Amino acid sequence: MIDQKRVLVTGGAGFIGSHLCRRLIDEGNDVLCVDNLYTGRKSNLFGLLNNVNFEFLRHDITFPLFIEVDEIYNLACPASPIHYQNDPVQTTKVNVHGSINMLGLAKRVKAKIFQASTSEVYGDPTVHPQPENYAGNVNCIGRRSCYDEGKRCAETLFFDYHRQHDLNIKVARIFNTYGPNMHPNDGRVVSNFIIQALLEKPITIFGDGSQTRSFCYIDDLIEAITRLMATSDDVTGPINIGNPDEFQIIELAEKVIELTGSRSELVFKNLPEDDPKQRRPDIALAGQTLKWQPQVKIEEGLKKTIEYFEVLLSHL
Ligand code: NAD
Ligand code: UDP
Ligand code: UDP
Repeated sequence: MIDQKRVLVTGGAGFIGSHLCRRLIDEGNDVLCVDNLYTGRKSNLFGLLNNVNFEFLRHDITFPLFIEVDEIYNLACPASPIHYQNDPVQTTKVNVHGSINMLGLAKRVKAKIFQASTSEVYGDPTVHPQPENYAGNVNCIGRRSCYDEGKRCAETLFFDYHRQHDLNIKVARIFNTYGPNMHPNDGRVVSNFIIQALLEKPITIFGDGSQTRSFCYIDDLIEAITRLMATSDDVTGPINIGNPDEFQIIELAEKVIELTGSRSELVFKNLPEDDPKQRRPDIALAGQTLKWQPQVKIEEGLKKTIEYFEVLLSHL
C-alpha cells in the first residue's frame, strides 16, 4: 500500500501499547513496536507478531534510535508503582533521555508525536476534579517522584520541542486505565483485586480504602488516543483522558467480590507513601475537542478483565 502510514509505538508490548498496536494494524498501518520488555510481554502481541504489517524491535529508548517513520506514539515507561519504583533512576531516564531521543527522532523525520502523560502530574491534588490548567501538588523527593517528575519533565520537553522546533505534538494525561493485557504481577489495584478474588486470597486494601480513583476501560482510552492523534496540528494538549466515575478503593473491592462470586476477605495494609487521596478527571476539554466520552461502565469493563485473568490463571 503506497500511502500506508509508518507508525512507531514505543512501549508497544505493554498493556496500553499492545491494544494501540492492534488498533493501528486494524486501521491498515505499518507498525513498528519498540520495547525493551521491562514490563511488557511478547504474549501481549499474540496474533500481531506474524502480521506482515507488524514488526517488533527489542530496544531501550534511552539509547538513540535511527529509523524512518511518519508518526510516533511514545508510551515506553513502566506505569505501576511497584515497577517504576523498582529502578527509579531508570524511570526518570526513560522519561527524560527516552523522550529526548523520541523527540529528536520526530524532529529529524518530521513526524507527529504522541506522549502518554499521566494524571500523576497532578500529584496528590488539592483541586477536585482535576482540570488541565491545575498545576498539581507533587513531591519532588518521594518514592513516586521518579515517575511524577519524570512525566512532568517529559511534558516540558514536548512543549519546548513544539515551541523551539515547531514539532507537531499531542500530549494526553491518562487517568487510571484497566483491561485485558495488564501485567498480573504489576501490583495495580484492578489486577491485584481480580487475581486475589479469583484465587480466593485476601483482598489487600491499602489504608482504610477511602481513597478514590476513576477507572477507564482500555477500549475507551484507545478511542480517545486515536481521536487526539487525528486532530488538527493546533491541538497539542495536554488533554485529560479518563472516566469521571469515581469510586473509593473499598467500593472497587466490593464490586470485584460481587462479580467474581469470591469468598475472599478484605485485609487492610499500610498506605504507600504519597498515595493520592482522590483522583477524578475533568474531561470537558476531551468532550469538546475530541467529541469523546467514555462508554464502558465499570461493571462491563471489570467483567471483561475478569474473563482475561481467568484464562491467564488457567494457563499457570
Ligand atoms: P506497561 O508497564 O504495561 O507498559 C509500558 C511498556 O514500556 C512496557 O512494555 C515496557 O516493557 C516498556 N518500556 C519500559 N521502559 C522502556 C524503555 N526504556 N525502552 C523501551 N520500552 C520500555 O504500562 P501501561 O499501563 O501500558 O502504560 C503505558 C504508558 O501509559 C506509560 O507511559 C504510562 O506512564 C502511561 N500511563 C498509563 C496509565 C495506566 O493507567 N495504565 C495511566 C497513566 C499513564
Ligand atoms: N536522535 C535519535 N534518533 C534520531 C534523531 C535523534 O535517537 O533519528 C537522538 C539523538 O541521539 C539526540 C536526541 O535524539 O541525542 C535529541 O536530538 P536533537 O536533534 O533534538 O538534539 P541534538 O542531537 O542536537 O542533541
Ligand atoms: N491499592 C490497594 N490495594 C492494592 C493495590 C493498590 O488498596 O492491592 C490502592 C493504592 O494504594 C491506590 C489505589 O489502590 O490508592 C490505586 O493504586 P494503583 O497502584 O492501581 O494506581 P495509582 O496509585 O498509581 O493510581
